[in-house]
Amino acid sequence: GSTIGIVGGGQLGRMLAMAAAKLGYRTVVLEPQADCPAAQVANRQIIGAYDSLESLEELASSAHVLTYEFENVPVGGLTHLSRSVPVFPPVGALEVSQDRLAEKRFFEKAGIATAPYRVVDDQQMLEAALADFEGEGILKTRRLGYDGKGQRRFSKDDVADDAFADLGAVPAILEAVVPFEREVSVIAVRARDGEMVFYDPAENVHRDGILATSTVPASISTATADAAIAAASAVLESISYVGVIGIEFFVLADGSLIANEMAPRVHNSGHWTEAACLISQFENHIRAVAGLPLGSTARHSDCEMHNLLGREVAEIAHLAAEPDVSLHIYGKGEARAGRKMGHYTRVKPRL
Ligand code: ATP
Ligand code: MG
Ligand code: MG
Repeated sequence: GSTIGIVGGGQLGRMLAMAAAKLGYRTVVLEPQADCPAAQVANRQIIGAYDSLESLEELASSAHVLTYEFENVPVGGLTHLSRSVPVFPPVGALEVSQDRLAEKRFFEKAGIATAPYRVVDDQQMLEAALADFEGEGILKTRRLGYDGKGQRRFSKDDVADDAFADLGAVPAILEAVVPFEREVSVIAVRARDGEMVFYDPAENVHRDGILATSTVPASISTATADAAIAAASAVLESISYVGVIGIEFFVLADGSLIANEMAPRVHNSGHWTEAACLISQFENHIRAVAGLPLGSTARHSDCEMHNLLGREVAEIAHLAAEPDVSLHIYGKGEARAGRKMGHYTRVKPRL
């Protein structure tokens, strides 16, 4: 059997390790925090920093193929390793998704609409950009944001003050506020040989910038669903992608789509696939990086996935008593407010 190296040991790494084990692969996880969620499942953990060349090299020498579970892995180290061991998804995709400006330009080049935006490198540029958007917009750091962190929203009468400094005085973009009717995402998979499969779009609701629920099917027309999948297909093809990608879209009142962002990894809005599809996003990611044929994305059930944040995880006994609920708990220690502790999927079979 082969060994798959995974950079990052959070819940996504854990679920990837579970899927790898299901297919008979061994896993080695690189993660600085001991007893991380993935370490409880993987065959081995290398305790080290993601940007430590020594740790990365140890990972590469212990594995036949490398993947990663979060998008802020330093590109330099992975590029170096990719000369001696295959790294999937390709590092180029990672690089684009690490920088919101590069990502916007990438979508535009692929013919996919994005929110209007301005580059913001200082306070003056912020004020000019806000004036362009009539005082409304969302300021986002170009790098390292997630779960709505590194963002500030401006409404008409807000004063920008020292907003650029408040956000950390780092390169940013200002996006126009998109008057979306709903948000959807597509989880797509591309194999090493170019085969592609797509899961049905999920409709996502965020609370305080954090994903709360994903519902499938989404309340969108077939034309909108097809357009989302066509956009995902264009993204995968244009970068010879390998693995699972999650692409988030805003849906406007007329059904047209605006791409928000993409994540070159398994995605929180695809967790429902483990309960409602024959082959989950996790297994399909492992299949893709290991060079196996992809599995069916056919959906046997309608469903609704709920994240369990912080103390909500205490609901476990109550949820476990419900006959239509599939539970997944990540084995994290401290239930800090807003921390993703687990999720559950309420499943309704399509009889
Ligand atoms: P994630 O955890 O998904 O990586 P993130 O921190 O990268 O999130 P975004 O996806 O950019 O943040 O934004 C979080 C949410 O904020 C979006 O799902 C959407 O609900 C809202 N939002 C972001 N940008 C815009 C916009 N331009 N117009 C309207 N709403 C927006
Ligand atoms: Mg993001
Ligand atoms: Mg997002």
